[in-house]
Amino acid sequence: MMHEKVTGVMIYYYFVCRRKLWLFNNDISMEDENELVQIGKFIDNDSYSSERKHIMINEEINIDFAESRGVIHEIKKSRKIEDASVWQLKYYLYYLKQYGVENIEAKLDYPLLKKTVDVSLAEQDEKKMTEILDNIKEIIQSEDIPECLNNNICKKCAYFDLCMI
Ligand code: SF4
Repeated sequence: MMHEKVTGVMIYYYFVCRRKLWLFNNDISMEDENELVQIGKFIDNDSYSSERKHIMINEEINIDFAESRGVIHEIKKSRKIEDASVWQLKYYLYYLKQYGVENIEAKLDYPLLKKTVDVSLAEQDEKKMTEILDNIKEIIQSEDIPECLNNNICKKCAYFDLCMI
Protein backbone atom coordinates (compact mmCIF):
# COMPACT_ATOMS: atom_id res chain seq x y z
CA MET A 1 0.00 0.00 0.00
CA MET A 2 1.36 3.41 -0.95
CA HIS A 3 0.81 6.66 0.91
CA GLU A 4 1.11 10.09 -0.65
CA LYS A 5 1.48 11.60 2.77
CA VAL A 6 4.82 11.71 4.50
CA THR A 7 4.57 11.55 8.26
CA GLY A 8 7.08 12.56 10.90
CA VAL A 9 7.57 8.90 11.76
CA MET A 10 8.50 8.18 8.15
CA ILE A 11 11.18 10.88 8.27
CA TYR A 12 12.47 9.33 11.49
CA TYR A 13 12.57 5.84 10.00
CA TYR A 14 14.29 7.13 6.85
CA PHE A 15 17.25 8.08 9.01
CA VAL A 16 17.09 5.01 11.25
CA CYS A 17 16.66 2.31 8.58
CA ARG A 18 15.20 2.42 5.09
CA ARG A 19 14.04 -1.17 5.38
CA LYS A 20 12.05 -0.20 8.47
CA LEU A 21 10.56 2.70 6.52
CA TRP A 22 9.52 0.33 3.75
CA LEU A 23 8.04 -2.29 6.14
CA PHE A 24 6.15 0.35 8.12
CA ASN A 25 4.73 1.90 4.99
CA ASN A 26 3.64 -1.45 3.67
CA ASP A 27 1.47 -1.88 6.76
CA ILE A 28 3.71 -4.49 8.32
CA SER A 29 3.59 -3.26 11.89
CA MET A 30 5.15 -4.92 14.92
CA GLU A 31 5.65 -1.78 16.96
CA ASP A 32 2.95 -2.53 19.54
CA GLU A 33 4.69 -5.72 20.54
CA ASN A 34 8.00 -4.06 21.26
CA GLU A 35 8.68 -3.33 24.90
CA LEU A 36 10.96 -0.38 24.08
CA VAL A 37 8.19 1.29 22.13
CA GLN A 38 5.85 0.80 25.08
CA ILE A 39 8.41 2.42 27.41
CA GLY A 40 8.74 5.35 24.97
CA LYS A 41 4.97 5.82 24.96
CA PHE A 42 4.90 5.76 28.75
CA ILE A 43 7.58 8.49 28.95
CA ASP A 44 5.68 10.48 26.39
CA ASN A 45 2.37 10.20 28.26
CA ASP A 46 3.93 10.85 31.64
CA SER A 47 5.87 13.99 30.64
CA TYR A 48 4.88 17.63 30.52
CA SER A 49 1.28 16.94 31.47
CA SER A 50 0.35 20.63 31.71
CA GLU A 51 1.14 21.41 28.05
CA ARG A 52 -0.98 20.93 24.90
CA LYS A 53 -0.16 17.40 23.83
CA HIS A 54 -0.27 15.34 20.65
CA ILE A 55 -1.25 17.90 18.08
CA MET A 56 -1.99 15.95 14.92
CA ILE A 57 -2.04 17.94 11.67
CA ASN A 58 -3.45 16.39 8.49
CA GLU A 59 -2.48 12.99 9.87
CA GLU A 60 1.06 13.81 8.78
CA ILE A 61 2.75 15.43 11.69
CA ASN A 62 2.05 14.67 15.32
CA ILE A 63 3.64 17.25 17.59
CA ASP A 64 4.29 15.77 21.03
CA PHE A 65 3.40 19.03 22.72
CA ALA A 66 3.42 22.78 22.14
CA GLU A 67 3.80 25.80 24.34
CA SER A 68 1.56 28.77 23.73
CA ARG A 69 4.62 30.99 23.17
CA GLY A 70 5.32 29.15 19.90
CA VAL A 71 7.64 26.34 20.89
CA ILE A 72 7.05 22.78 19.69
CA HIS A 73 8.59 19.75 21.39
CA GLU A 74 9.46 16.22 20.41
CA ILE A 75 10.11 13.79 23.26
CA LYS A 76 12.62 10.96 22.98
CA LYS A 77 13.99 8.57 25.53
CA SER A 78 17.60 8.36 24.37
CA ARG A 79 20.09 10.21 22.18
CA LYS A 80 21.19 7.08 20.28
CA ILE A 81 19.69 8.06 16.94
CA GLU A 82 19.63 11.79 17.48
CA ASP A 83 20.10 12.65 13.82
CA ALA A 84 16.77 10.96 13.01
CA SER A 85 15.00 12.87 15.80
CA VAL A 86 16.52 16.18 14.70
CA TRP A 87 15.34 15.67 11.12
CA GLN A 88 11.89 14.62 12.28
CA LEU A 89 11.64 17.94 14.09
CA LYS A 90 13.10 19.86 11.15
CA TYR A 91 10.36 18.27 9.06
CA TYR A 92 7.74 19.64 11.44
CA LEU A 93 9.23 23.12 11.04
CA TYR A 94 9.40 22.67 7.28
CA TYR A 95 5.82 21.37 7.14
CA LEU A 96 4.43 24.19 9.24
CA LYS A 97 6.30 26.71 7.09
CA GLN A 98 4.45 25.39 4.00
CA TYR A 99 1.27 26.48 5.78
CA GLY A 100 2.69 29.90 6.58
CA VAL A 101 3.53 29.10 10.18
CA GLU A 102 6.99 30.52 10.77
CA ASN A 103 9.05 31.96 13.59
CA ILE A 104 8.46 29.09 15.91
CA GLU A 105 11.08 27.30 17.96
CA ALA A 106 11.60 23.58 18.20
CA LYS A 107 13.10 21.53 20.98
CA LEU A 108 14.07 17.91 21.29
CA ASP A 109 13.51 16.77 24.87
CA TYR A 110 15.05 13.85 26.71
CA PRO A 111 13.13 13.69 30.03
CA LEU A 112 15.11 10.72 31.33
CA LEU A 113 18.39 12.52 30.66
CA LYS A 114 17.04 15.94 31.66
CA LYS A 115 18.44 17.36 28.40
CA THR A 116 17.01 19.54 25.65
CA VAL A 117 18.42 20.19 22.18
CA ASP A 118 17.34 23.22 20.15
CA VAL A 119 16.46 22.46 16.53
CA SER A 120 16.14 25.00 13.72
CA LEU A 121 15.49 24.92 9.98
CA ALA A 122 18.25 26.51 7.91
CA GLU A 123 17.95 27.33 4.20
CA GLN A 124 20.17 24.38 3.29
CA ASP A 125 17.98 22.12 5.45
CA GLU A 126 14.97 23.04 3.32
CA LYS A 127 16.86 22.01 0.17
CA LYS A 128 17.90 18.74 1.80
CA MET A 129 14.32 18.18 2.97
CA THR A 130 13.01 18.20 -0.60
CA GLU A 131 15.61 15.54 -1.46
CA ILE A 132 14.64 13.49 1.61
CA LEU A 133 10.96 13.64 0.66
CA ASP A 134 11.76 12.54 -2.91
CA ASN A 135 13.91 9.69 -1.59
CA ILE A 136 11.21 8.56 0.81
CA LYS A 137 8.60 8.48 -1.93
CA GLU A 138 10.96 6.46 -4.12
CA ILE A 139 11.65 3.95 -1.33
CA ILE A 140 8.04 3.40 -0.32
CA GLN A 141 6.85 3.08 -3.90
CA SER A 142 9.48 0.51 -4.75
CA GLU A 143 8.50 -3.14 -5.10
CA ASP A 144 11.84 -4.09 -3.59
CA ILE A 145 12.43 -4.12 0.13
CA PRO A 146 15.69 -2.35 1.12
CA GLU A 147 18.51 -4.50 2.48
CA CYS A 148 18.73 -5.51 6.12
CA LEU A 149 21.06 -3.26 8.14
CA ASN A 150 22.17 -6.08 10.38
CA ASN A 151 23.81 -3.85 12.95
CA ASN A 152 23.32 -2.86 16.59
CA ILE A 153 20.16 -0.89 15.85
CA CYS A 154 18.50 -4.14 14.74
CA LYS A 155 18.78 -5.68 18.21
CA LYS A 156 16.28 -3.19 19.61
CA CYS A 157 14.06 -2.95 16.55
CA ALA A 158 10.48 -4.23 16.55
CA TYR A 159 11.18 -5.88 13.17
CA PHE A 160 14.16 -7.85 14.46
CA ASP A 161 12.49 -11.25 14.31
CA LEU A 162 11.11 -10.56 10.88
CA CYS A 163 14.45 -9.36 9.45
CA MET A 164 16.55 -12.09 11.04
CA ILE A 165 14.48 -15.07 9.82
S1 SF4 B 1 15.75 -5.15 12.24
FE1 SF4 B 1 17.36 -3.84 11.40
S2 SF4 B 1 17.16 -4.04 9.18
FE2 SF4 B 1 15.27 -4.79 10.09
S3 SF4 B 1 13.93 -3.03 10.05
FE3 SF4 B 1 14.90 -3.08 12.05
S4 SF4 B 1 16.70 -1.77 11.88
FE4 SF4 B 1 16.01 -2.25 9.82
